[in-house]
Amino acid sequence: MAIIDFREIPSSKGGQAGQDEWALFTREFFDAMGVKAEEGPDRGPDSGRDLILTERRIGTLGTGEHRWLVSCKHYAHSKKAVYDSKEVDIIGRLRKFRANGFIAFYSTVPSSGLSGTLERVKEDFGVEVYDCERIERALLENTALKRVFERFFPESYARYTREHIAPRAVGDLPLRIRCNVCGKDLMDERNGIFGFANRVVEGHKVETVDVYWACRGECDRLLESRFDKRGLITGWEDIDDLSIPLVFMHWIITWMNSLRKGEHKFTEKAYEKFSEFTFAMAQLVVRETTEEERERIESLRDIPFYLGGLDQWGTELKHIQT
Ligand SMILES: [Zn+2]
Repeated sequence: MAIIDFREIPSSKGGQAGQDEWALFTREFFDAMGVKAEEGPDRGPDSGRDLILTERRIGTLGTGEHRWLVSCKHYAHSKKAVYDSKEVDIIGRLRKFRANGFIAFYSTVPSSGLSGTLERVKEDFGVEVYDCERIERALLENTALKRVFERFFPESYARYTREHIAPRAVGDLPLRIRCNVCGKDLMDERNGIFGFANRVVEGHKVETVDVYWACRGECDRLLESRFDKRGLITGWEDIDDLSIPLVFMHWIITWMNSLRKGEHKFTEKAYEKFSEFTFAMAQLVVRETTEEERERIESLRDIPFYLGGLDQWGTELKHIQT
C-alpha cells in the first residue's frame, strides 16, 4: 500500500531526535486508542526506545491491568528489517518490567529470525507485532487515530485526503468539468458553480433554457450578464456543495420531483447538458467500482434500455470533456 511515508518522522541517525519522535508517536498512537503509557520513553537496547503501556481489562470476575512492554524501532529511512540482534533478551526485559506482554512497534518489519524469536516469546507472554503495514492500516481505518495521523505525518495526510476525494471514473473514461469560459478544471480548483438560466412559461411554469458551469467570480459573472441580456433569470449551485453525497442525492431527487409535478421544463439542449454534468459530477460522489462490478457492467451493457442505453456516456458527450 504505502500511503503513509514513515520517513516524515526523522531518522535517528546523527542524534536521538528521530528515535525519540518515533517513541512519542508510539505513545500518542496507543493513547488515542485508550491505552495509556505508564513509563517511558526509556532508552532500550541499541538506541531503541521502550515504553510501558497499561491496558485496563474489565473481566467477568474482576478488573485487571495488563502491562505491555513496547519496543519502538524506526528504520524506515534505511528500509532495514529489525534483526534479532536488535531485540536483546526480550524475556529478561519483560520480567524486569513485570510486563505481561510485548509489542513490537516498527516502521519496517521484523526479520524472519526475530519473528521466530517472537513466536517463542509467545509461549509465555502476549506478543503483538505492529509492523509498517499494520500501523498504516490502523491510521487509515481507525477514526480515533485521525489526529495522530495528521500530526505526525502531515504530508501523507494531505496527500491521502486529496486523493481520497479525487474524481473516480464512473464510466469508461474519467470526465472533467471545465469552466465554460476559461476552460479551467473545476474539479481540481474546487471553486466553481453550476448555473441555470430560466424563463417563465405558460404563466407559472419554469423552463430551463440553458445550463452552464464556470469559475466563481469573473467567468460566472460574464455568463450571468449574457443570460441577463436575453431576459433570462439565472440561479446557481456550488459545485463543492454538490460533491457532498447527501446534497448530490437531494439535488437529483428535487429535480425528479419538480419534473414529475410538471412544474419544470427543460429545453432539449439544457436537459442534455444537465444530464452530462450530473453524470460527471457523480465521479466526486460515488465510490470506486470493484473488479467484480466492472464485469457485471459489461454484461448489463448487452441489455437494451438498461446500461445498453448508457453507452453514449464517455463516447458521445457533447458538453463534457474527458
Ligand atoms: Zn473560468
